[in-house]
Order: sequence, then C-alpha cells, then structure tokens
Amino acid sequence: MFEALGNRLTGVFDKLRRRGALSDADVQEALREVRIALLEADVALPVVKDLVNRVRDRAVGQEVIRSVSPAQQVIKIVNDALVEALGGGEGDDGKRGIDLNAPSPLPILMVGLQGSGKTTTSGKIALRLRVRDRKKVLLASLDVHRPAAQLQLQQLADRAEVTCLPIVMGQRPLEIAARAMDVARRELFDVVILDTAGRLSIDAELMAEVAAVKAFAKPHETLLVVDAMTGQDAVQTARAFNEQVGVTGIVMTRVDGDARGGAALSMRAVTGAPIKLLGAGEKLDALEDFHPDRIANRILG
Ligand code: GDP
Repeated sequence: MFEALGNRLTGVFDKLRRRGALSDADVQEALREVRIALLEADVALPVVKDLVNRVRDRAVGQEVIRSVSPAQQVIKIVNDALVEALGGGEGDDGKRGIDLNAPSPLPILMVGLQGSGKTTTSGKIALRLRVRDRKKVLLASLDVHRPAAQLQLQQLADRAEVTCLPIVMGQRPLEIAARAMDVARRELFDVVILDTAGRLSIDAELMAEVAAVKAFAKPHETLLVVDAMTGQDAVQTARAFNEQVGVTGIVMTRVDGDARGGAALSMRAVTGAPIKLLGAGEKLDALEDFHPDRIANRILG
C-alpha cells in the first residue's frame, strides 16, 4: 500500500531539495503536485483540500523558506499533516488498538461486507488476544446465511487455539449471541468475539440485523472490517456503518496488496472512526497495530 503515492511525493520533494533556497512560488508548485499525488492515490477530495490547505498555511510566508533546510521543513510539515489525517492528532491517543478495559466477558462485535476479511480478522484478533494479552477468547459466528462461514470460523478458532461456540443449526443471530454470552459467563471467558454476517453490499436487512445484535450484546468494541483495495468504496461503507450502526474502530485489510492507500488517509476525516488495526496477509499472525506516525513515514519513505 502507498507505494505509488510514496514514489510521487519523493519525486516532488527531491525537486524541492535540489532548488536549495525556496520561494513561496516553489512551495505553491510543490503543493500543487502533492495535491495531484493525493488525488491519484484515491484520497477523498475534501480530505485532500484540507490537508493541502493545512500544509500551505504552515509553509507559505513563514520562516520555512528562510530556514537552513527549507525542503526538509516542508517535508516535516507534510509529514505532520499526514499523521493528523491518519488520526494521530491530539485527542486521538488511546483510541488505537483494541480497548480491553471492561469487565469480562467483554463482547467485541465484528461487522463488515462479505469478503472484506471479517472472519479472518476475527481469527487474527482471537489469536492476538490469547497470545499477547493472555485472554480466554470465545469465537462465535452469527452468520446464519452461509453455513460455510460458521465452519470457516471453527477452523480459524482451531488454528488460533481458542474455543469456538458449537454450531447449532436453525438458530437466529440473536439466539446465537445470547448463547455465546451465556457460555462466556458460565465458563469465565474474558472476551467474546461475535462475527456477524456480511452481504455483498449494504442493505437495510443487513443493517437491521447488525443493529439488533449490537443492541442485545452491547459490545465494548464494534469493529468494522474494510478492504483497503476497494478505495473510496471502503470509505463509503465505513460512513454507512458508522451512521447506521455506530462503530468504535476500523480494521483495514489487504494492506499487503497494492492498494493506493487513499482509504486509509480519508477514513478518519470522512467517518470519524479511528483505524485501529491493519490486516497485512492471509496468515493468522498478519495483524498490525495502526500507528499514524509509522504510516506517514512509510508514505514519505
Ligand atoms: P469475510 O467474508 O469478510 O468473512 O472474509 P474472509 O475472512 O473470508 O476473507 C476473504 C478472503 O480474504 C480470504 O481468502 C482471506 O484469506 C483473505 N484475506 C483476509 N484478510 C486479508 C489480508 O489482510 N490480506 C490478504 N492478502 N488477504 C486477506
């Protein structure tokens, strides 16, 4: 992810560096190129405008152009603006990673479209909570529409060496959620991960089902899983889920692919929800924490 954007920005900044002393016009020209690079990376237009304006306010007419290494200063300003766009601004601390600060059994609701990587991510999170946080984790599939999804979660649970709620055919999502919470209370599980059904696109029925499960289970975290490869669609999906169901965080998957990265940069501004985790591969340990500063570094190389 971000490869093309990173290359483009590096090109812009190399040009600035070669100029040595910078005029306001030089900075304006560089900003025009930064704007194009962001748009080509599929960053949402309002986010591009805001980011470029912020950089312009800080860079143009300031001491920057008179400083010892003006290009370096401009790069730093762009870097800071990227970190802010990615949710690294003040007040965003503590919103990263999964919040485990609640009584057991702590429910986590996984939501998202079919194929986004929701079930795989449920397995990844279960593994991480077991190994890193030493939690006793129960996985439960509420996907009554696709029996294969329930079997898939069972297999993931086996690989992650956590318990999967036994499949009972014919139960509805709310009944499964109730059974999961009941088992978790009786058998002293720390965390219950409820993997809801996805659909190929957002529809009223999906949203109603997810909202009903959420109202019942009162999850401590509602994590939306989106596929980074779907670009602006991922952002629209997140906006819809956040408006209609309410999410506490986003997991962006397939960042190991060649996604242009625009979704990651737009997500915070457009949806208001923070990206908490990244899925970076099919393997169960391919789950990364989301660090806005490290991502900005990755972009700027
Ligand atoms: P769901 O329908 O949302 O539950 O999606 P799945 O969890 O079944 O994932 C769909 C496909 O995407 C599977 O083949 C997964 O192995 C794959 N997948 C999930 N997350 C990632 C990821 O972060 N990177 C890559 N490359 N593949 C992923």
